[in-house]
Amino acid sequence: MAEPVRLVFLGGLGEIGRNCACLEQAGRLLLIDCGLMFPHADMPGVDLVLPDFSYLRDNAGRIEACVLTHGHEDHVGALPFLLREASFPVYGSPLTLGLAAHRIEEAGLAGRTRLVEVADGERRRIGPFDVEFIPVTHSVPRGFALAFHTPQGVVLHSGDFKLDLCPVDGRLTDLARIGALACGPGVRLLLSDSTNAEEAGHTASETSVGAELLRIFESRPGQRVIVTCFASHLHRVQQVVDAAVATGRKVATLGRSMAKNVELGLRLGELRLPPGTLVDVEEVADLDPGRVCVVSTGSQGEPLSAMALMAAGDNKWMEVGEGDVVVLSAHPVPGNEWAVNKVVDGLHRRGAEVIHPGVAPVHQSGHAKAEELKTLLAVARPEYFIPVHGEFRHLVSHARLATRMGVPEPRVLLCDDGDVVELSDTGLAWVGEVPAGYLYVDGIVGDVGHGVLRDRRALAEEGVVMVVATVDDRSGDILSGPEIITRGWVYAPEAEELLDEARSVALQSLKEAIAEGAVDHEALGRRARSAVAALVQARTRRRPMIVPVIMGA
Ligand SMILES: [Zn+2]
Ligand SMILES: [Zn+2]
Repeated sequence: MAEPVRLVFLGGLGEIGRNCACLEQAGRLLLIDCGLMFPHADMPGVDLVLPDFSYLRDNAGRIEACVLTHGHEDHVGALPFLLREASFPVYGSPLTLGLAAHRIEEAGLAGRTRLVEVADGERRRIGPFDVEFIPVTHSVPRGFALAFHTPQGVVLHSGDFKLDLCPVDGRLTDLARIGALACGPGVRLLLSDSTNAEEAGHTASETSVGAELLRIFESRPGQRVIVTCFASHLHRVQQVVDAAVATGRKVATLGRSMAKNVELGLRLGELRLPPGTLVDVEEVADLDPGRVCVVSTGSQGEPLSAMALMAAGDNKWMEVGEGDVVVLSAHPVPGNEWAVNKVVDGLHRRGAEVIHPGVAPVHQSGHAKAEELKTLLAVARPEYFIPVHGEFRHLVSHARLATRMGVPEPRVLLCDDGDVVELSDTGLAWVGEVPAGYLYVDGIVGDVGHGVLRDRRALAEEGVVMVVATVDDRSGDILSGPEIITRGWVYAPEAEELLDEARSVALQSLKEAIAEGAVDHEALGRRARSAVAALVQARTRRRPMIVPVIMGA
């Protein structure tokens, strides 16, 4: 009997983002990615969403290491938060570690975390784990799929991937190695990226975007070209630079993360450009427009990004206007559509020409579509399959692809955040559950919790009504108030009558409560609140937050 291994899913199953899982073997725990999620519109004031770390906190002593598939925020962004509470080495490609290090440094944890670089195809022992790092193509360079050689056979995790047959750096997804694993030991369990499982066909090659960018640059001589894309997408940046160089332009970066990542890319040789190509953005104004290319952050319409400020005419480095060409070389991540739309509109108002993926093929996804997912399933021929990375609908679509590809239905497991599964001699089975809720981060406050979020939603949607009164603690007389103060509920000048009514209802309820012998402020407050709530609900059909403030004297 071989020793069983376990997988614990802490995030990324049922949502896009906060990818995080653990592999457990011989009493030790290996973390696979540790990502964050960007908040949805119904999370007011929340900056980031993290995995619930309580399981990892409870088992901190057993954490052997963290292995990173690639450097996107939804795979590395939560690391600095976990590293505040637990200490362990982090493995990944040099670029992945470089991107993660930016975050770890910002959190002031750089000195105490050991970052271990691994090369393409390398196989490493990490405690009891035997991990192979297999190259994959994705929208950030140097991504890995991970093959775990366990006592229960090979567990293959695809990471985020696509099957780009003509990648910018020529580094292909190593299907040959995956095939060799399938033919040799066999793949016992495959975990694979489901983000684009609903999309038919193949994702086009990243190099097709380069060809389109070059067409745009060539057909607009004498005009400035400003391209915005994800700062970590160094292959996209490379193709922007190539198009600029080919058309005799200098390149300036705009936005802090773009400057940082370009510097990192140059240092690691992931980005190549002829000497003298890069200029400071301050020099751009002195150059002939036809000699200028700017590559900028802000492809998601982030309110304070270089792009959003430019669209609002507020960017202190650059003004966009008539004659300029702006290329949005990215798709809005779900939830960001409105913000991106606002930027596109603002750029049009300033007179710029705007080229976005809706009008020209200036973007391609980094995730495999159905045909590529099926190819991986065909090459890996897994005994068991768990779709990962995606909303539930994506997981279901991917599961369906797997059964159509011949994986028997009972061997395809649909898992959710928090699920614990065990791979043993008898097969793959669901064995339990751990906490896996959302951890909301609000600036420096840390976890804001569900209650706070519920209050914020109520305040945002319905406003607040405060009932303020002072009572004499000995006699029970009402010394002042009750006053009604509202924010965001009704437009005050038109609501005089309503406020008067609320005041008299509150007064009446307080008098009754006092007559019945209620003395403590909390009980009085409760009475005032329910009386005012009933009135507000009856008269306005709304449910603002009602806050009684009863003071003693
Ligand atoms: Zn990714
Ligand atoms: Zn991802």
